[in-house]
Amino acid sequence: AEEDLAVLEGGLDEDGLEVEDVRPVVAVVGRPNVGKSTLVNRILGRREAVVQDVPGVTRDRVSYPVDWAGRQFTLVDTGGWDARVEGLALQVAEQAEVAVELADAVVFVVDGTVGATAVDEAVVKMLRRAGKPVVLVANKVDDARGEADATALWSLGLGQPFPVSALHGRGTGDMLDAVLEVLPEKTSLPSESSAVRRVALVGRPNVGKSSLLNALVGSERVVVNAVAGTTRDPVDEMVELGGRTWRVVDTAGIRRKHRSSVGADFYAGLRTQAAIERAEVAVVLVDASEVLSEQDVRVVQNAVDAGRAVVLAVNKWDLVDEERRRYLERELEIELVQVPWAPRVNLSAMTGRHLDRLVPAMDRALASWEHRVPTGRLNALVAEIVAGHPHPVRGGKQPRILYATQAGVRPPTFVLFTTGFLEAGYRRFVERRLREEFGFVGTPIEVTVRARE
Ligand code: GDP
Ligand code: GDP
Repeated sequence: AEEDLAVLEGGLDEDGLEVEDVRPVVAVVGRPNVGKSTLVNRILGRREAVVQDVPGVTRDRVSYPVDWAGRQFTLVDTGGWDARVEGLALQVAEQAEVAVELADAVVFVVDGTVGATAVDEAVVKMLRRAGKPVVLVANKVDDARGEADATALWSLGLGQPFPVSALHGRGTGDMLDAVLEVLPEKTSLPSESSAVRRVALVGRPNVGKSSLLNALVGSERVVVNAVAGTTRDPVDEMVELGGRTWRVVDTAGIRRKHRSSVGADFYAGLRTQAAIERAEVAVVLVDASEVLSEQDVRVVQNAVDAGRAVVLAVNKWDLVDEERRRYLERELEIELVQVPWAPRVNLSAMTGRHLDRLVPAMDRALASWEHRVPTGRLNALVAEIVAGHPHPVRGGKQPRILYATQAGVRPPTFVLFTTGFLEAGYRRFVERRLREEFGFVGTPIEVTVRARE
């Protein structure tokens, strides 16, 4: 069964440590209406069958895992904001800049039926300056006739234009092959001993990320002031916390305030996701003095979706009075139902309150994130569940869990082998029992089902 699993799960190794958890990033950029979203959906459509089992994919997310020809990368859809006529050039340019900063390669989409516009040319200039590999797509080439027009795009100086119909799927395979050709094997992650943990401080603007970073850096020794320059050009800081060195990812993004308000939320969201993906543990900050917002919830969800260890830092605790405190508890309970398992630290970056509790919370979350349950104990629990709380009978049938195994860690992933499809409610019950039995404080866990009929 263990060998079966290696195949099913794409070769997760025994302790999960070999698994590359930072994939190269491909960003899709271009003017509004050239077909970026259609293209992204077309690409993702190819793997629908593979992701059926993954819960919690929300609409707000802008980056998606993609498998193509045995390679894996993260696709970032930068088409997620409204096209306004005014300031269009600026908006597209900013979007391209974000992409350039965060991506390992860029898919630049032009409307093949329109040809290159002045805005397209402005984006090209920026892309060239940045020196990231670019695959040029002439979209909306729905038939062979359009291909001749598409060749005009050689004039952009980005090499061969790939004629594509995102709508019908024409040419997308060749285009993806070209992307793989220019994409580095993996993103240039800093090489260091795995003893150095990567942590991301995330949260909506003004929750106190930079204050917390300053407080942490101020009270402890900064080992190396700034570690600049992987290909994505975020700046990390190596900080000694609790006697060990931690890599705080993308401190440039924390310290930098937005240059303009155009697309600022989108920019921040993208940056947050990139930071989460580069981190092992996400410390999600919320502002205790303000009502929890949708944006707060979204950041938490991003971290969960990315499968990272999560610590909740409730900042500005110095501003909380008795009444606010009561409301806050209810808000946290209601709004953050998806992470009742996240360790929580009520702290104040300003006064320094409970800063010393952050590292133990991160350690705990990381330990859970990498925890492996012995197969024997796992199946003892399964036997107990099957005996004590069998699946309800549905249509004369009663699916049964035959056995379970842990397919991976970072985060813990379980596979249940069953005699039939398990209802969502029952799966949640099993997940809850796994948590009750084995803890998993501070980590999402994944439970997938393989039905053997
Ligand atoms: P975005 O703003 O760049 O994300 O563009 P969308 O993906 O929303 O597409 C804009 C419009 O172009 C929509 O009406 C799409 O149906 C249409 N479109 C996208 N790709 C194609 C294509 O390959 N061929 C044709 N004919 N239309 C397309
Ligand atoms: P960021 O946008 O998440 O990096 O937030 P900042 O660190 O810039 O903080 C936003 C504002 O909140 C600033 O005015 C900070 O002084 C204030 N702030 C941050 N942490 C605390 C805290 O623990 N208590 C109080 N009272 N204010 C704080």
